[in-house]
Formats: sequence, structure tokens, C-alpha cells
Amino acid sequence: MNASGPGCCIWMTGLSGAGKSTIASVLAARLERRGRTVTLLDGDIVRTHLSKGLGFSKEDRDTNIRRIGFVASEVVRHGGAVICAVVSPYEATRNEARQMVGGGSFVLVHVATPIAVCEQRDVKGLYAKARRGEIKGFTGVDDPYEPPVSPDVVLTTLDCDAEECAATIERLLEARGFL
Ligand code: ADP
Repeated sequence: MNASGPGCCIWMTGLSGAGKSTIASVLAARLERRGRTVTLLDGDIVRTHLSKGLGFSKEDRDTNIRRIGFVASEVVRHGGAVICAVVSPYEATRNEARQMVGGGSFVLVHVATPIAVCEQRDVKGLYAKARRGEIKGFTGVDDPYEPPVSPDVVLTTLDCDAEECAATIERLLEARGFL
């Protein structure tokens, strides 16, 4: 089995509860079925290991993204596929990650679920806490989210389930010669 190929980074940005983790894990399974070795850098998991101790100030958020960008660049350099599922609210910092990885290997996916839907899902109960003021600086509530200026894929998650969303990304990877 050829576990490596052209290295690629699939960077998924979007609000909390948009569906990044869900789509990322479905996509990872699909790529693995095609013989690729996949590294999944999920925001929540990264924050318990690689970025333990960092908070949600702009500075800490940027540090978190730069660390993820660095790890992603190493994976890509060795021919792996890496999926980064992180809110990554700032355009400039996402662009830094793109530069670290190399633009030709970087696929930007905007999981663009409307905030009302994310809030209705409220998977982790965080929106309710943010609205009550128990969490400060929550993206989309009292902290900014800058939608990507030039995403490669936009998924609203309203008209397709996670499997279909992942399939859309997979088709793009195929079209770009990553699979
Ligand atoms: P995030 O990682 O962006 O914070 P999660 O993946 O943890 O978001 O949560 C998204 C929630 O939305 C999950 O409960 C998931 O089942 C649900 N969901 C509904 N439709 C979709 C879809 N098309 N794609 C992804 N998630 C979806």
C-alpha cells in the first residue's frame, strides 16, 4: 500500500458547531480507505496536547494556529495528508498557515454553517454559556470570525450530510491530483 502521495493539507475553518470535526473524521476515513495515511489535527485535541495552556486571546489563538501550521507543513513535506479542523477565525493567520504549508498543497474549506444553526445545535453547550456571559471572547458571539476571502470549498452543511460534505472535498482533492 502506498500510504503517501502528493502531500496535502485540508484546512477546515468555521464557527464552533459548524461541523468541522464531524466532516474531518468522515473525510479521514474516506482517505484511509483509499490507502492514504491521514493525520487529523482537531482543534479540541490540539488544545489538550500541542497547545495546552493557551487561551483564546488573539495572541494565543494565533500561536495555536502557527503551531498547527508548522505540524501540518511537516506532514505535507513527508507526503502525508493532514486535515486541520480548527475555528481559525483570522484571515491573516490562516494565510500564514497556508504559506508555511505551501500554497500548492493547501486546500481551504470553509464550513460555513450559519451561526443560528450552530447555536441551535449547540453541541457542547458553549453558545448558551457565551450568551449568558459565562464564556468571554467566544467566536461569533463576542469575538470576530473573518470568513475566508478565497476558500477552495464552501460547505453550508444545510443541504448535505457530513458524508456528502466529505465527498465534495474528496472530489476536489482528486481533481487537484492529490489522490
Ligand atoms: P465543530 O467541529 O465545527 O465545532 P462538530 O463537528 O463538533 O463542529 O459539530 C457539528 C454538529 O453538527 C454535529 O452534531 C453534527 O452531527 C451536526 N451536523 C449536522 N449536519 C451536518 C453536516 N452536514 N456536516 C457536519 N456536521 C453536521
